Amino acid sequence: AIFSDRKNSAGINLNIEAVRAPLFQRLEQLASKSWQATPLVAGKAVAGEKRPVLSPQHREHRVGEVVFADKATVEQAIGHADNAFRDWRDTPVEVRAQALEKLADLLESHSAEFISLCTREAGKLLQDGIDEVREAVDFCRYYAVEGRRLMAEPTKLPGYTGELNLLQAQGRGPFVCISPWNFPLAIFLGQVSAALITGNTVLAKPAEQTSLIAHLAVTLAHEAGIPGDVLQLLPGDGAVTGAALTQDSRIAGICFTGSTDTARLINQTLAKRSGPIVPLVAETGGQNAMIVDSTALPEQVVRDVLRAAFQSAGQRCSALRVLYLQSDIADRVLEILEGAMQELSVADPAHWSTDVGPVIDADAQKGLQAHLDAMKAAGNKIIAEAPMSADCAHGFYIRPTALEVGSIGELKKEQFGPILHVVRFKAKDIDRVLDDINATGYGLTLGVHSRNESFAAHVAKRAEVGNVYINRDQIGAMVGVQPFGGRGLSGTGPKAGGPHYLSRFITEKTITNNT
Ligand code: GLU
Repeated sequence: AIFSDRKNSAGINLNIEAVRAPLFQRLEQLASKSWQATPLVAGKAVAGEKRPVLSPQHREHRVGEVVFADKATVEQAIGHADNAFRDWRDTPVEVRAQALEKLADLLESHSAEFISLCTREAGKLLQDGIDEVREAVDFCRYYAVEGRRLMAEPTKLPGYTGELNLLQAQGRGPFVCISPWNFPLAIFLGQVSAALITGNTVLAKPAEQTSLIAHLAVTLAHEAGIPGDVLQLLPGDGAVTGAALTQDSRIAGICFTGSTDTARLINQTLAKRSGPIVPLVAETGGQNAMIVDSTALPEQVVRDVLRAAFQSAGQRCSALRVLYLQSDIADRVLEILEGAMQELSVADPAHWSTDVGPVIDADAQKGLQAHLDAMKAAGNKIIAEAPMSADCAHGFYIRPTALEVGSIGELKKEQFGPILHVVRFKAKDIDRVLDDINATGYGLTLGVHSRNESFAAHVAKRAEVGNVYINRDQIGAMVGVQPFGGRGLSGTGPKAGGPHYLSRFITEKTITNNT
């Protein structure tokens, strides 16, 4: 059964004054705290050159300092992970599950620190920070339950009389987890908890932009009882730290979330190195569409488009990039969308009322701005641009923009930010629209808005994607509720937060005993 008694975390309801007031007070205290991140190898901090961590919201606001892991540090850590592996693999899954559940409790009791760091280090909104903690907690508890189901006892299989057949799931070895900055806590711990519960030792490399959050998470994991040599932290960039991790022949598997290009590079590295053939679990980008037919409710469409395209400043791989509007309803939807975009508050993510915060860094800002400039130069019609507040002058902001394009095929790559492309289509062309969407090669999320059930069912069936959402927005997949992940250029699967995820982290042993 894929159901369990486990419930997802309730999160924090900012509408309740008695909840909000103490949280805001704590966030105020944390607003100027300086944080530190270092490699954590066999439980010990490794010293090195300290690099400043600056906030995406304000170029001069220093959030703390980070020490990156060099090649020698990575090699040492892999040695420890290798030595610790057999003991951890043979530790009862119940012990591992309880440690993850303890970690979930610690995350909840440290919510304010994480929410503060999400805002300051990652430029996320308060609500995004709250959701981030909630999802991380859910991953830890969900994989604890799933791990017990998968690993507690070997499965007994049928056989000849007198023959006992057992199928046993086991950890694979030192596992590398490489996580993105857009979910610096949830995806970071989702990967790590999946690899740990299944009996692997873990070498975690968080995105270089969000090392401070990862460091706090690993510190709490150690406090929860996960040994220092079983979970090690290796902050750093892809070129040095990531390369040293993925090239090493002692690595037994890699879990990666990030760009499609980097996933390809990891695949190439794995193919070239010596050592065992190992799994790569990759969750990458998307070129996600929403299809709206003429039976849809325009107000509801606009509400969901705003959330799907602009929440988290569009920096989710699930985010809506291309909105397909049936021509008879297009003008009405766009009129409401334009009005609604004028009301968006693009500002400091630490303010409760902000709708859209900054993008992650200067490179992201530059790339997105270049795309907008190129689209404008090519004559694409601008539908709406949200106003920017004075807060934005010091940070890496992109003006949330909606513009028209001819088809999804004109967009050569994913634009990871608050930019919405709009395409009009005629009802008779719906299959061509679906072919165009499928032809991008990506296959992550797809939204459909229609009150015609057979239309929605047709689209859901024909779209080559991992997650279809009908009559709602297409972001914010919940652990155990909407298992998340795509196909093709969007990743390998299995789906995070789903009942099959852990299967890629284990190896299986069949023991046949002629008793
Ligand atoms: N699971 C997230 C969502 O549904 C997206 C994950 C990602 O951006 O990698 O919004």
